[in-house]
Amino acid sequence: GQPERASSVSEYLDHVLAECGEDTSGEVSEDIPAPGATDPALHALALVTADGSEYAAGDDDFYFTIQSISKPFVYALALDDAGLERVHEAVGTEPSGEAFNELSLEGGTGRPLNPLINAGAIVTHQLVSRNPEDAESNAEHTTSHSKDVQRRTARIVEGLSAFAGRDLSVDHELAEDEYSKDYRNLAIAHMLKTHDVLATEPEEAVRGYTDQCCVLVTVRDIARMAATLANNGVHPESGERVVSEESARRTLSVMATCGMYDGSGRWLARIGIPAKSGISGGIIGVLPGQVGLASFAPRLDDEGNSIQGVEMFARLCADLGLHLMASERRDV
Ligand code: GLU
Repeated sequence: GQPERASSVSEYLDHVLAECGEDTSGEVSEDIPAPGATDPALHALALVTADGSEYAAGDDDFYFTIQSISKPFVYALALDDAGLERVHEAVGTEPSGEAFNELSLEGGTGRPLNPLINAGAIVTHQLVSRNPEDAESNAEHTTSHSKDVQRRTARIVEGLSAFAGRDLSVDHELAEDEYSKDYRNLAIAHMLKTHDVLATEPEEAVRGYTDQCCVLVTVRDIARMAATLANNGVHPESGERVVSEESARRTLSVMATCGMYDGSGRWLARIGIPAKSGISGGIIGVLPGQVGLASFAPRLDDEGNSIQGVEMFARLCADLGLHLMASERRDV
C-alpha cells in the first residue's frame, strides 16, 4: 500500500489495540501447555487485504499454537484432497449447540455435526491426504501408524504453510505434552470409531490432530491465512492457489455458522463475518473478497473466545462497515 495509508492503518490498529487492551477480565486457558502463551499481557492485531497489503500492531511476532484455528483450513484441505462427497459422508455442516469437546453426532448418519468441533475436526484431519489414492491406502494400512501420522502431518503442515505463505512448523514438545493428557479427544476418537466414521486407528487420528493443533503461528500468519480464504483460496502475495474456490467458500460457510464455539450465533448477529477462534487466544475473521483479520489475546470468556479479541473485532467491523448483512459496504 501507499506509505501514507500504511501509517494511518497501523495507527488505527494501535488505537484499537490500546482501547480494547484495557479489559483484563477473563482467564487464560489452563489446557494450553505453552508457558509463554499464557502471559495475559500479550496482545496483537493484524489485517491483510485480499490484494496483499499487510498491517499489524502489538505483539505481532509472538508465537502461539494455532489450536482450533487450524480446523477450517484443514477442512478446506480435506475438501480438496478427498472431495466433497467423501468429506460430507464423514462430517456434517450443522452447528452443534454443544461444547466444542462434546461428542456431537447427527442422528441417522452418525457423522460429527460439523468440522469445527473436535469430533468433526478429528474426522476431517484423517481425510487429508496428498491425493485420493493416498487417502484410500491410508484407510487400509492401519498397521504403520507412525508413518501414516507423519505423512499426514507433513501434508497438513505444508497446507497450512501454503495458506500462510511461509514455512510453519509443529512444536513437537508441546504436542507431546498435550497428547499425553488428551484423554478426552482419545475418548471421542474411540467413540467415532464405533460409529464407523473414522478410517484410521483412534490413537493415530488424535496423535496427528494434536500435531495439527500445535503448529506455531504469529498473528500475522493467521491474518494471511484468513486473507487467502478471503481471496477465494489464492494466497494474496504469492498468487499460489492453495485450495479450490469451492473449498474456500464452503469453509467460510461453516465458519459463519460454527466458528465461535457456542457464541457463534451471537457473533454473526453482532460482528457479522465468518470467523474462527482458538483456545490459545487467537481469532480470525474473513470478509470474502476483501480482507483477512486476526487478533491474539489469551484471556478467554466462558465460551472459550478471547475477550479482547471479540472486542477488537466488534470495533473493527463497526468502524470499517464489514458486517455481511449490511446492505452497503465500504471498501477496505
Ligand atoms: N487442542 C485443543 C483440543 O483439541 C484445541 C482446542 C481449541 O482450540 O478449541 O482440545
